[in-house]
This record gives sequence, C-alpha cells and structure tokens, in this order.
Amino acid sequence: MTKNSDHSTPAPNQSDPDGQVFVIGHPISHSRSPLIHMYWLKKHNISGAYDKLPVAPIELAEFVRRLKADAHQLGANVTIPHKELIKDYCDELTDTAQKIGATNTLFKQNGRLIGDNTDAYGFISNLEDLAPDWDNDLEEITILGAGGATRGLLYGLQQRTAARINLVNRTFDRAAALAAEFNADKSDQIGAFESNELAKLLPKTSLFINATSMGMNNDRHPNLDVSLLPNNAIVNDIVYTPLDTPLLKDARAAGLKCVDGLGMLLHQAVPGFEHWFGVRPSVDDKLRTIIIDDLVRAGQA
Ligand code: NAP
Repeated sequence: MTKNSDHSTPAPNQSDPDGQVFVIGHPISHSRSPLIHMYWLKKHNISGAYDKLPVAPIELAEFVRRLKADAHQLGANVTIPHKELIKDYCDELTDTAQKIGATNTLFKQNGRLIGDNTDAYGFISNLEDLAPDWDNDLEEITILGAGGATRGLLYGLQQRTAARINLVNRTFDRAAALAAEFNADKSDQIGAFESNELAKLLPKTSLFINATSMGMNNDRHPNLDVSLLPNNAIVNDIVYTPLDTPLLKDARAAGLKCVDGLGMLLHQAVPGFEHWFGVRPSVDDKLRTIIIDDLVRAGQA
C-alpha cells in the first residue's frame, strides 16, 4: 500500500554521482529526457548515466524489483503507459503525485522507493521563466483541455493562486469531473464549460492555456478566437511539437505575450536530476537549443 508524504527537499544521502537512471515507457524511442539529463551530467562533470529503457507493461514489476535491489540504480522517469500504474510499486507517493494521480519521477530515500510528479513544477517554472509577472493582477485563467496534463496544471495553479479557473473541454463531462475533484480542496475555484462557451470567457481571461493535443497537427480550435482576449493576456501552449503552434502564431499576431511548451518539459526534469545526482541544474539557452535542434532533425519543430 502506498503512503502519502511530501518530499520537497531531498535527503542528503540519496544521490550518487556515479549512479544509473532510466526513462521507461512503451514506446520510449521518442523521449528527449536523455538529451536533457546527459547535457546536465556533462555540464556538471558528473560521471552518472541516464538512458532510455523500453519497458512493456508486463515487464514493469521486474523493472521495479531490479531498481529496488540494485544500489547503483538511483531511480527513473516514467512515461506512457506506466504513469498511473507505477504507484502500485512505490513504497510512498509524494503529496503532489497523489493529488495529480500520476507519477513521472522515481527516486530512493532511506531505502524506500518514492513516486513523485514534477509536471506541475515544470509548468509553473516555465511560466515564471518566460512570463515572470503572470500572476500579477490575474483576473481569470482559462484552460482548454481536461486530460492527464490538465491535472498537473490545476495542481500547480491551485498551489499559487486563488484566481478563478475556467476549464473548457470538448467532452464536457471530463471537465466537470476534474473541476469537482480539484474543487474539493478549494471550494468553487474551478468552473467547467462547453467548448462553445469559450467566446464569453475569453474577454475576462488573463492567462489562457492550451492543454489539448490540438496544434500537434498544425490544427486550430474552431471555437477559439484569440482577438477576444484582453491586450495584456498571456497565451501558453503546452504543446511543443511544433514549438510554434498555430495558436501561438495567432496570439503573437494579435500582440499577446506568448509562452511555448518546451520549457515545461525542460523544467520538469530539474527535481529528478537533483534527487539522483545531488546537483540542482538550471534550464539555460544552450539546453533549449539542443532540444530544438533535435526537434528540427526529427521534423517536429
Ligand atoms: P490526453 O489526456 O489525451 O488529453 C487530450 C485532451 O485534448 C483532451 O482534453 C481532449 O478532449 C483534447 N482534444 C484532443 N483532440 C481534440 C480535438 N480535435 N478537439 C478538441 N479537443 C481535443 O493528453 P494529455 O496528456 O492531457 O496531453 C495533452 C497535450 O499536452 C499533448 O498533446 C502533449 O503534447 C502536451 N503535453 C505537454 C507537456 C510539456 O511538458 N510541455 C507535458 C504533458 C503534455 P476530450 O476529453 O474531449 O477527448
């Protein structure tokens, strides 16, 4: 049975500069996590290793058994399809992983395997980085999408602000269910809306976030007219393939402040690296360039 705990600061004895870390998933070939962590390992002159490891669902139990048994293995990043299932193999979950309902980072502490979720941290850190005043004079926040990523966004936003959050989704029932779940702690901060209600929400929206997969095929949401947003609104698209989505192009053309999704991916990697290797890395321009170059090579930029 998993226990709930908050591990915001790592214990000093859990990291190892010579250790091994994996990113596991099925498939895993698309993952950019090795590029991020190898950049930091090299930058900080740390001899540890970070590799992709394909792990099918049937192999998950054996992967965790080896991870726990081998002191050289420090932990892992976890991606699709294991982000929900992995909790059953953890000795503890952080409060964040528990509330988001998914785990993307495993580390060891005092001989126990801890499951954490760093997506909310990555999302907020990216906003802080690219739009430092994002929470000054916030009127309302509108999120388009109510899938797995939105759970991390809601958790991160609720930690930071009491501003009203409008949750808009094609499938209204998913938005309503998420709003009810995350309102449990914060009364009625979050409201659920149908897609065709977007036009009435946009004029009061200070921060608009796309958390749907729209944009990945260079597509636009039919109900989204960014010209209805106030002049000082910030538009954040968490999709980063392509980096410059049609939504961001439209927002920039309308003179709005834009925040792309790549920084969320980069920042979410920071806490894991610190847990495993004992150094808190920074997201710098060189790292961004490395990942953008890789997206270009893969025809995904
Ligand atoms: P998900 O759980 O599959 O949810 C997908 C969401 O997109 C749902 O709200 C879905 O609406 C909506 N959607 C899909 N196609 C649509 C369409 N044609 N019209 C309107 N809505 C549509 O996916 P997720 O894990 O939440 O991820 C969403 C996106 O976030 C992904 O594309 C991914 O690129 C991005 N992401 C980025 C980061 C980062 O680090 N930057 C991290 C996580 C995710 P329904 O509920 O109606 O199906």
